[in-house]
Order: sequence, then C-alpha cells, then structure tokens
Amino acid sequence: MDLTLWTYEGPPHVGAMRIAASMKGVHYVLHAPQGDTYADLLFTMIERRGQRPPVTYTTFQARDLGGDTAELVKRHVREAVERFEPDALLVGESCTAELIQDQPGALACGMGLNLPVVTLELPAYSKKENWGAAETLYQLVRGLLKQQPANPGAHNPTAWKEEQRRPRVNLLGPSLLGFRCRDDVLEVRKLLDRHGIEVAVVMPLDASVADVMRLPDADVNVCLYPEIAESSCSWLERTFGQPFTRTVPIGVGATTDFLAELRALLGMEPPASDEGAQQSRLPWYSESVDSTYLTGKRVFIFGDGTHVLAAARIARRELGFEVVGLGTYSREMARPVRAKAKELGLEALISDDYLAVEAAMAEAAPELVLGTQMERHSAKRLGIPCAVISTPMHVQDVPARYSPQMGWEGANVIFDTWVHPLMMGLEEHLIGMFRHDFEFVDGHQSHLGHLGGLQSGQPEPNAAPAMTAVAGDVSGETTLTWTADGEAELKKIPFFVRGKVRRNTETYAREQGRGQIDSETLYDAKAHFSA
Ligand code: SF4
Repeated sequence: MDLTLWTYEGPPHVGAMRIAASMKGVHYVLHAPQGDTYADLLFTMIERRGQRPPVTYTTFQARDLGGDTAELVKRHVREAVERFEPDALLVGESCTAELIQDQPGALACGMGLNLPVVTLELPAYSKKENWGAAETLYQLVRGLLKQQPANPGAHNPTAWKEEQRRPRVNLLGPSLLGFRCRDDVLEVRKLLDRHGIEVAVVMPLDASVADVMRLPDADVNVCLYPEIAESSCSWLERTFGQPFTRTVPIGVGATTDFLAELRALLGMEPPASDEGAQQSRLPWYSESVDSTYLTGKRVFIFGDGTHVLAAARIARRELGFEVVGLGTYSREMARPVRAKAKELGLEALISDDYLAVEAAMAEAAPELVLGTQMERHSAKRLGIPCAVISTPMHVQDVPARYSPQMGWEGANVIFDTWVHPLMMGLEEHLIGMFRHDFEFVDGHQSHLGHLGGLQSGQPEPNAAPAMTAVAGDVSGETTLTWTADGEAELKKIPFFVRGKVRRNTETYAREQGRGQIDSETLYDAKAHFSA
C-alpha cells in the first residue's frame, strides 16, 4: 500500500487508450468495472476532442461477478466489432479486471474474428501510463507487421540515392495526452522538409492500420518521444534493420544535433552549423543584453525523462541558468537522467511522490521551477515562479495557438514560456534598490499584473517568524533564533534568493554553534559560502 494523493501517471490502460484514441480505425475493448469510463474525459475535455475515444468498456458491476463475466467480454467484443467495424482490435483489462483473470485477449482471439486482434497484458499494479502506451504501441506494431518478411541485413538507409527519390522517415511517439505533440509533429515536418526529407508515417497520432503496414518502407525512424516509442523503434531496427535517432530535437543545440544525427544516418552531408542561429530567435534573445540578468538563475527541473533531459541542456547551455535540481517520475528513463544530473554535479531525484519533489524543491530554493502541473502547484505554495514543461498537464497546456516545444519555433516558445514567470530585469534591479515603494513591493511582478508568486497577506516563502526557534534540541541540534536585526538584514536580500540565503545562514550558524542569528552572522555566512 502506498498513501497517494496526486499521481504523475495514470494506470497502464490509460496509456493503451492514448494509443487507440490517437489512431484511426483501431478500437479498444477494455474489461473494466462500471465507473472506469472517467478516462474518456481526459480526451474530450483536456484534449478537447470532438468525439469519444474508440473504447468499449465491459462495465461489469458487483452483481455480474456472480455470473459469467467471460461471456460479458465476448458480447462486448462482438458488439464493438459489429458497430464500429475497426481495422484492428486491442483487447485488455483494467486494474480491477486484472484481479478476476478472465483473459479477455485470449477470449477475443478464440472468437474467429475477421480482423487483427492484439492482446494487451498491462500489469496495472506495477506499471504506469507511459509504459502502457509504449507496450501497446509495441504490441500493435509487432502484431500487425509479424507477417512481413524480416531481413534486417538487407536494409540500406541510403538507398534513396540510387532510387533517385527523397529520403523518407517515420515519426514515432507523438500521441494524444502527450506534451504539445500536435505542434511538435508540425514543427518537425517543417524542419525535415527544409532538409529535403519526407515524412512517411506519423505514429500513433493519426496513423491508420494501413500506415502501420508501411512503416518498414521508411529509410530511418525518428524516435520523438522515447518513453512511448523507443521499444517499437528497437523492434523495427532488429526486425527490418531500420536505424533510429536517439536525439530529441527540443532546444537549439539538440535540434542541431538531431539534424546532424539524422543526416548522417541517411548518408547526407552534415547540416550548416549556423542553422539554429538563422532559424530560431532563442540564440539572439538569450545573447541580447536584456537577458544578462538571467545568467546564473537557479532552476529546479522535474517531469518526464524526455522533457527534463532537454530542459536541463537548454537551461544550462542556452539560457545560462544554474540547474540546482533535476529529477523525473519516469523510472524507465532513470539512467539517462541520473547521468545528466551527474554531469551537472547533482544527484537525480527519481520519484513519483510529489511531496518528495516539493521537499527537494524547497531544499534547493530555486528562483525558477520547470516542471509538471504538480510542480506548478508546489511552486505556487512556495512562492517560486514556475513554467510547465511536461505532462501531467492541465487543459491550458493544450492551447489553441501554435505552441511546439521541438525544432526552431519550439525553442522560441520555450524562451518566452520560461522567461515570462521571472521578474523583468529592470523591476528586479529597482526592487533591490528601493524597498519601500507602496506599489512595487517586495516580490511584486508587475508584468504578471499581480504579486507574482506572493499574494498579499501570504507569508514570505521559507519564512520563519522573527525570534522563533527554527530547529529544536530534540534532534540534538542547536536551537536557532533570528534576531530582529538579523531578520531586517535578511529582508534586504532580493526575495527570489532570500530562501537560499536563509538556509545557508542557518546551516552556517549550526556549524559554528551559534544559537542567535543577527546581521553579523548573516554576513559571516555570506563570506563563508562565497569563499
Ligand atoms: S484539474 Fe482542471 S484541467 Fe485538470 S482535468 Fe480537472 S478540470 Fe480539467
């Protein structure tokens, strides 16, 4: 048992629903109790789809458990095939159905249906949504293509040259309820078109069963979202010899590397090194003098593996931020995230407990949080500016306007989105100089039209009341007290770094065995940490 309030991912059958709902002509029969239809709302409300997802639920009730639930499955399979006439059928179970073990996939396979049936085995008690989506995609690709002759040695990714055609690639991974997939696909299409590369199949988003059958015809596979598509890409490589790209084009540097990697796989010349600077505004915006104040801003990054890896690189190399925390809830991506954290001198936080993430965030005392909607809530509580970079997301992260994360335009969107929650440079400078303005008070962010993270009447983030003990002697630690003079001096520090200064000073005071923190202790600590 695990006491859970918020969860980063849904159960694996929601991942399977994402694949079915993203595609055309694929229907999903889900053995599930009454009430599991709640997941429809993710598609009709958050994704704002105009139709219900292609899912038939068996919706068994308590009284059905005394009867023949297997017959119930067969009836729903029969009715779904007659009514929706799909080109392929997925059959699986939800968490509750897993317990009664009706084996709906095997039942459907034994019904002599005249269409491909893919059985899904998704262990709901040990795996989660993205794993469920990846497994469903993999089983579907494998199930539909298993009849095609496999000859990995015969595939030549540069064959397009002799065949005198444009090179063509598949885009694998984009799906409904993925982060900005709709516009990422458009942006990557534009990017590839500029390089003379055609897109053969996009999968699962908008792919039909006929499209799946064409997957082996492409020269190379582009793996846009490894959480969803890496297992399918590896299978296509093993079976048909199609190589696939490992770089996800989020950020100017990563897009440049992605183009170099893809062009090398296709046997093309390397791309022009200045394409990013020519096509995206991020490099110049980030270099221009107004961005100087961004240098060294402390940023905490959390989300799915793909987006945090991309964000860490952009933050550090393209915006000049200092990454002070990095983590993911994607256990499947723990390895690369740990490696990236190590490169940044950090220890990665691999957790799906939002309270552990909130605690790590409070401890790191960043000036900006890049995370999911959960971190947005935590950051709001802590009074720290935040931008959303990954699922899980709210409905506002499926916007009407064009908002990719990938490619050159994606980098523009990222620049605006990340910088927007921060205080503008001039305001930051003025608030540091004049602390007694009646309107532009400490923590105010006038460009947001309100007090930023700090609402009036709310306590200052990380604040401890004046003259109050902050650590008891129960733990054997020195009891610390801030004097009025110490608190007054602390207030002079700009609010966005004040939390960090408070913590550093307390650590220093403890180390030195000082019980009272006055202005002198504060400056001693400052000298100690900057030495
Ligand atoms: S929290 Fe808000 S955006 Fe998210 S699903 Fe519920 S209503 Fe929709």
